[in-house]
Amino acid sequence: MLHIGRGAFALPLALSIALVAAGAAASTPKSPRAELISSCTVPGMVALTFDDGPYLYETNISQLLLSKGAKGTFFVNGNNCKSSLLSMVPITHQNNSKDECIYGTKVAARLVETYQAGHQICSHTWSHPDLTDLDEADMDVEFSRNDEALYDILGIVTPYLRPPYGSYNTLTRMVAYNHNKTLVLWDMDSEDSIGATVNQSVEYYKEFIANQSVTIALQHETIKTTAYGHYPRILQNTILTSGRFELLPQAIDLLQAAGYKLVTLAECLDRPAYTVEDGPGQRNASTWNCHDLPSSSSSTMPTGSLNSYYSSATRRK
Ligand SMILES: [Zn+2]
Repeated sequence: MLHIGRGAFALPLALSIALVAAGAAASTPKSPRAELISSCTVPGMVALTFDDGPYLYETNISQLLLSKGAKGTFFVNGNNCKSSLLSMVPITHQNNSKDECIYGTKVAARLVETYQAGHQICSHTWSHPDLTDLDEADMDVEFSRNDEALYDILGIVTPYLRPPYGSYNTLTRMVAYNHNKTLVLWDMDSEDSIGATVNQSVEYYKEFIANQSVTIALQHETIKTTAYGHYPRILQNTILTSGRFELLPQAIDLLQAAGYKLVTLAECLDRPAYTVEDGPGQRNASTWNCHDLPSSSSSTMPTGSLNSYYSSATRRK
């Protein structure tokens, strides 16, 4: 803070001009920026959030949540490279081989099912780039294309967007504001996408619950051990998983035992879930396609193996 005392009138001319200029700059209104949220506001409520889908385990997650009287919030991509990378894992994936993006027949159907089950669907951008690498035009495409897909498929417009990797800057917030988005982060990370074992993630939950510091919890629907399954997680040729393999059932049980109600993001913020809600649309072969991707400069899809992708410390969420 610069304090100007009684002697200010005696300042050299150049400095006086500089101070006037600084004062003028400070009084110029800032460009509006999107609101940032990382915690819920309604006491006793927690929003479990799932990024990077729609993916194979979404229905399982949805059903598990419902079976325990809980709702979830899914931040989905239009075309997320992780889905195709994970297809290298030998699982039943044939249905996605030609239509991996959100418009794929099975993928869109899965998303509709999740939406109709009462879970909340939000945006995680079209192709999961680090938004701080993009200029305004490319960001516009990332936001708009995913919004178009969510409207085409579900008939919704979401006011919520989670920036991939939790990465944003001033420009991101300005562009997000122009798209009427609130940026949503989290206050507890299960670290399921960066190699935490299920047991480690469970310990994080216990720690955060003990500290009463979890209201928006981050996990990924693309991680099989988050959803379900008896399936060892392997990273760099090391089997990481031990003990129970599923994170979600344990996380739900821990939170509910601590008295938390597991609700959608909108419910725990006490805000509307959607800006527009017109109901699911009909498949349109000409517009429901995966191929008109955003400009190539916006693509930061990683190349190489699944292991090298997940071992990258900076590209993790
Ligand atoms: Zn992500």
